[in-house]
Amino acid sequence: MTESYKSMENPLERLVNESGKNSADVLCPKENCKCIILRKNAATLVERDGSKLALPESSLPANSLLEDDDTHFWHVGNMMDFENVGFSTTIGTTKYLSCADCDLGPIGYHDTTDPKEFVISIKRAKYRF
Ligand SMILES: [Zn+2]
Repeated sequence: MTESYKSMENPLERLVNESGKNSADVLCPKENCKCIILRKNAATLVERDGSKLALPESSLPANSLLEDDDTHFWHVGNMMDFENVGFSTTIGTTKYLSCADCDLGPIGYHDTTDPKEFVISIKRAKYRF
């Protein structure tokens, strides 16, 4: 059973555990895709400038496109911390991340000037508790 961010009540309370990590598996937001992006407890909640995600052409379904308030992200410091992730275009110093199975994206980005900066938008995902 998975839940989308939008259908959740108090998502920030439910999705973040006492250590500031993800309390649920983070999956691709596409309805029928079961690709796991991050395992439970693998990433830390951080705040970032969400405007980077507004730049590229998005393949996300129209109803999951969100306003420019994507400021909460799951952060990992190493590509190997992802369970699955795909890379799409790079624009400037921003390399966009997509679903490894269905290519849906962008769901997050990697800042190529910082080898430890990989983030997935908390809203562009669904969750399995
Ligand atoms: Zn997918």
